Amino acid sequence: MSSNNTSHHTLNIDTFTCAWCGLTVSATAGDHTRRNHCPSCLHSRHVLDHVEGGASDCHGRMAPIAIAVLRTGDWMVIHRCVRCDELTSNPVCGDDNQLILMRMAVRPLAQPPFPLEAFGTL
Ligand SMILES: [Zn+2]
Ligand SMILES: [Zn+2]
Repeated sequence: MSSNNTSHHTLNIDTFTCAWCGLTVSATAGDHTRRNHCPSCLHSRHVLDHVEGGASDCHGRMAPIAIAVLRTGDWMVIHRCVRCDELTSNPVCGDDNQLILMRMAVRPLAQPPFPLEAFGTL
């Protein structure tokens, strides 16, 4: 297994800069869970390979594209890397931008890939 050492100087407080809106984000959420996406615009960065489970050297920007709801009722944000198209899912944090979350959740309902009139004839 290859470990790629990034020459990244971290202070006591682990922060990262959002690749999309430039916000400085604390890597630990209020409830002490690790967060990997920006609470403001929900963008992330491709640093973990979902398939291989290890570190990724892609570092592409990951755009939030959808919401998935687990059996437990927890919401996950689905991110897609704009560079390599890798998909990842990450738990929603309590301080994530709820407007963006709701917008992503209802987007498929607003743009169904089939005519809604079909329901009228059932
Ligand atoms: Zn952001
Ligand atoms: Zn990538």
